[in-house]
Amino acid sequence: MMIEVEAIPVLRDNYVWALHDGRRAVLVDPGESRPILSWLEDRSISLSTILVTHHHADHVGGIPALLARHPVPVFGPARGAVPSRPVQDGERIELPGLGWTVTVLDTPGHTRDHVCYVGAGYLFCGDTLFSCGCGRLFEGTPAQMHASLSRLAALPGDTRVCCAHEYTLANIAFALEVEPDNGALLARRAEALALRKAGRPTLPVSLATELASNPFLRCDRENVRVAASQHLQTPVNGGVETFAAVRAWKDEE
Ligand SMILES: [Zn+2]
Repeated sequence: MMIEVEAIPVLRDNYVWALHDGRRAVLVDPGESRPILSWLEDRSISLSTILVTHHHADHVGGIPALLARHPVPVFGPARGAVPSRPVQDGERIELPGLGWTVTVLDTPGHTRDHVCYVGAGYLFCGDTLFSCGCGRLFEGTPAQMHASLSRLAALPGDTRVCCAHEYTLANIAFALEVEPDNGALLARRAEALALRKAGRPTLPVSLATELASNPFLRCDRENVRVAASQHLQTPVNGGVETFAAVRAWKDEE
């Protein structure tokens, strides 16, 4: 049976990703319960599993109320969160009933305990990677986040990237400060504007598009290094320093 992957908007700008076959659904990062319970009831879909990327409230806040109605396993990082099934890097999780398997990737940086899930051509990356942006470094170091993003960047280019927030247009405005002449970025802006005008999510997006347009995945490029050095008015060298400089630059805004 065909599996659909849908973004359910919750809270201010979060997406809960639902993988479903019309009967059963797996949810990623349910930060709120009410819109999710309505979504399930309206479609007569039963919840089968919850996946959690990290412990922030806008990713786990809906879980207690969902479990009260649907007692299902909750997979997530062992530290910080409250999963019933703690996950480890490299672990493969079979999604019950859907015939899909996802693999856990440790991606520290936004938090120390952040994980992503990758499978069937999709990447559920929580607050690690955003379209044309990346998560803030609340707990991790620039070196950790740069390594985590490099890990995601090595996935196949046709991977569909499912981020946890609709931040794309704001991220593009910043990315254009770093790379004003990037044609792929300008094309992504036109596409994202049209999608938002039509009331649609800008996600998922292909990893290939991100590799061509997201400055945080392009810190090994000379033009990005030079832009970061000029902004800081001090030379930066190498991917990690460039990443740290671009991240600090965005944090000023
Ligand atoms: Zn977060």
